Formats: sequence, structure tokens, C-alpha cells
Amino acid sequence: MQIQNILQAQKEFSKTPNPLNIQFRKTNLEKLRELIINNQDFLCEAIYKDFGKSKFDTFTTEISFVLNDIDYYLKNLKSLSKPQKVKTNLSNQLGNSKIYSEPLGCILVIGAWNYPYQLSLSPIIAALAAGNCCILKPSEIAENTMKAMSKLINASFPSEYLHVYEGGIEETTELLKLKFDKIFFTGSTKVGKIVYKAAAENLTPVTLELGGKSPVIISKNANLEVAAKRIIWGKFLNAGQTCVAPDYLLVHESIRGQFLKILKKYIDKFKYEANSIHYTKIINEKNFVRLINLIDKNKVYLGGKYNNPKLYIEPTVLTDIDWNDPIMQEEIFGPLLPVLTFNDFNSMINSLLELEKPLSAYLFSDDSKEKKAFLERFSFGGGCINDVIMHLGNKNLPFGGVGSSGMGRYHGKFGFEAFSHQKPILERVTWGEPNIKYPPYSEKKLSWIKKIL
Ligand code: NAD
Repeated sequence: MQIQNILQAQKEFSKTPNPLNIQFRKTNLEKLRELIINNQDFLCEAIYKDFGKSKFDTFTTEISFVLNDIDYYLKNLKSLSKPQKVKTNLSNQLGNSKIYSEPLGCILVIGAWNYPYQLSLSPIIAALAAGNCCILKPSEIAENTMKAMSKLINASFPSEYLHVYEGGIEETTELLKLKFDKIFFTGSTKVGKIVYKAAAENLTPVTLELGGKSPVIISKNANLEVAAKRIIWGKFLNAGQTCVAPDYLLVHESIRGQFLKILKKYIDKFKYEANSIHYTKIINEKNFVRLINLIDKNKVYLGGKYNNPKLYIEPTVLTDIDWNDPIMQEEIFGPLLPVLTFNDFNSMINSLLELEKPLSAYLFSDDSKEKKAFLERFSFGGGCINDVIMHLGNKNLPFGGVGSSGMGRYHGKFGFEAFSHQKPILERVTWGEPNIKYPPYSEKKLSWIKKIL
């Protein structure tokens, strides 16, 4: 069936009386849960074919993530969907006020390749929980996972409710001409702008989950062992192909030498070898070439080797980097870690304020003044103090960017809200109507109005 016809069928389906009630949503979320659990091996094989991601990483960062999402909504759907009673102001007495969460209708989710299951299915799960129909267009760059999702989902769900549409730029361009009730996009800032422009033509609301250069600040007051261990894990997970991965380090000058040695210790210990279960390869030749061109051989402190046919790049730490180096001009999105230094905490924050607002930022410090400056002066999507990436795993925290790293947010109740219209309703009683607001007006009425308002 043509995609226009599928969207039309979804529109018709979402208009029929009460089709997407809570029980229907729960039944379908449970069905999706079963589908994922019963096909874990198939899903793991597909992602392994795409970029050598191990079963361990696929379970921890993809499968368990989406299963937890489903469990969250199954558990909380009733309370999330319940009309929320709010106070009614004096001039609207006697009455009561409620906010109703209404499904938006038909949602288009456009996914990225780097966490292909999580970034496609997590928004879909939130959208279905909120009572919508969905079309998912996963990234064609991770072709095997795209095909795996399309095969499983399209065989199990009717297309007028949920459909996976395979395709690349051409197909996405066609999709973007259609009128959806919301577009949820994960990907680069460059393509985010294309999506935003296309959505504007139909006045379609968007959530844009984009990227950016996420810094990690290591202060002289940090626990260096813990910092190094957590940073190395977060940076080289998925071979650095993570939107919230530490992009570069800002290390206090006084601890630079000591910290580099600890970084090396953990890189050695974690055994990031080619074709191993501990490490992923680069997604394709294009990204591989882009990344190796960013390695300045004169600045390699550690690593720097690569293997083209295997699309493997060693974890690489680069030192003596300054803001003008090519590696500091774009989001790295790979296993290269440039290290810059600073002397004065506030001046370093000032230099960050000159850059685009990143998706994430991380501070390692035990100093309360530094924490306060980091939180109050520096704007970024979200982050951690004394850790990296892990804020994503807390469903009680919203996830999203700010400025050029994106707009909108999701996860947990924020995901439910992202795919709902919050419809405010005031219900009045029909007796005891005072005449005070109706003409003819008088000075006496005005003085009463002034007291009430
Ligand atoms: P991308 O922008 O190249 O592609 C994302 C999606 O857009 C894909 O489905 C692709 O088919 C489609 N697309 C690509 N070019 C298009 C065009 N010209 N017109 C219409 N559609 C087009 O991004 P990517 O390479 O898949 O992912 C990497 C980027 O995504 C990085 O910048 C990363 O930081 C960001 N990212 C952000 C998040 C987040 O949650 N904020 C998560 C993962 C990745």
C-alpha cells in the first residue's frame, strides 16, 4: 500500500469513536513487549550485522531500555491519562477545571541509526501510550535493524495503527510533504532544520532530538579515578557513536598529567579490541574516513590506529588541542577524545558560552561553587555531575536538547505529554449566575469587579 493511503487509513482509524482507549493501548504495548522479547536474538543479529554491536551492549542500551519504557507506561497509563483536576479561580466559581490529555492523532517518528531500536521504538512506545497511530521511518544507514523492525512490526500490527516505512532521504522527503499531527525526529542538527522547515508548511508540531558537542569538565576538585573510569565507559560505548557521549574534555591544568595516566589505565583495562564483544565498529566507510581525517597524528597521546576493512578505530586520546583544531569544529561522533585544559573555572565557563548549546554537559567536581556555576551559568540539554550519560536512564527526568541541540523532550511522563494535547476544560454550574459581568455596566459593578479580579 502507498504510504499516503496508510496515513489516510490511520486518520480514519483515529477518528472512529474511542478506538484507542486505555485497554486497547495496553493490549498493544503488551503485544509489542512480547514481540521484542520473543525476537531478541533476531534483533541482536541484525544490529551485529550493521555495526558489530555485541549482545551485551544491545541488551543494556537498546532492548532493556525499550522494555523498561513499555513497563513504565503499562504501570502508569491510568494515572497519566486521567483528567487532571486543577484549582478554579474565584471569577470562574461555581465550576471545576480539569486538563484532559488528548491524543494528537497520527505521528511520524524518524529515527537515527546509532541506537536504532531505542531511538525508533522509545518514541513510538510513548506515542502509542498516549493513544496515537504511528508511522516509523527508521534510519536506512542501519539497514539490517531497519528491516528487522519493519518485518516484525508490519507482520504483527495493522498498518492503520502502526507501520514501519523503510527508506532513505528520498522516502523521508516524500513523507515530510504529508500532513501528520506531530513529527518526532532524532538525528543531526542539519537534517533537523530540513524537518522543521517541512513541518512548518503544514504547521505540524515537532520534537527535534539533535546533537552537538557535549563537554566534560574535570575540575582539580574531582575524584579522578571515578571520573576517568566513567568517562572512558561513556565515551567508548558504541565506539563514541552516542548523541550524549562526552565529545571533549576540559581538564584543570594542575591535574592534566595525572588524569591522562588514569585515562590510559582504564582504556587498557577495558580491552577495546577490534571484533571483540567489548567494542563496536564505525557504522560505515563515510564516517570512518571522516573520523580518521580528524586524527592529528602529532597530537595523539594514546591510540590513533585504525583498520579500514574492519571499520575499527582504536580509542584515541588527543592532547594539546585548542579550539581552532578541526576536531573542535564539529560533533565528533566516534572514538576520538580531545583533551583541552583550563586554569580558571569561570573563564572556562565563559568560553563555553560562546559555543552552541550542547545536548549534554558533565562536570566532575566536589566543589559546591563550581557545581553552582556549572548549573546556573551554562545552558545545555541535560547532564550529570560526577557521571556521564546515565541521566538518560532515569525515566523521571525529561530528555531533550536546547537551542541547536533540539527542542521538546520525552521519556516517562514527558514522553506521554510530548504526544498529547493538554486540553483545558472549565465546567460551570448553570444556576446562581450573578449579573456582574453583563452590560449595562456601572461604577458599582466595576468596584465589585476590581475586588474579584
Ligand atoms: P541524520 O540526521 O543523518 O539522519 C537521521 C534521519 O534523517 C534518518 O532517518 C535519515 O534517513 C533522515 N535523513 C537524512 N538526511 C535527510 C534529508 N536530507 N532529508 C530528509 N531526511 C533525511 O542523523 P544520523 O546520522 O542518523 O545520526 C547522527 C546524528 O544524530 C548526530 O548528530 C547525533 O548527535 C544525533 N542524535 C541525536 C540523538 C538525540 O536523542 N538527541 C540521538 C541519536 C543521534
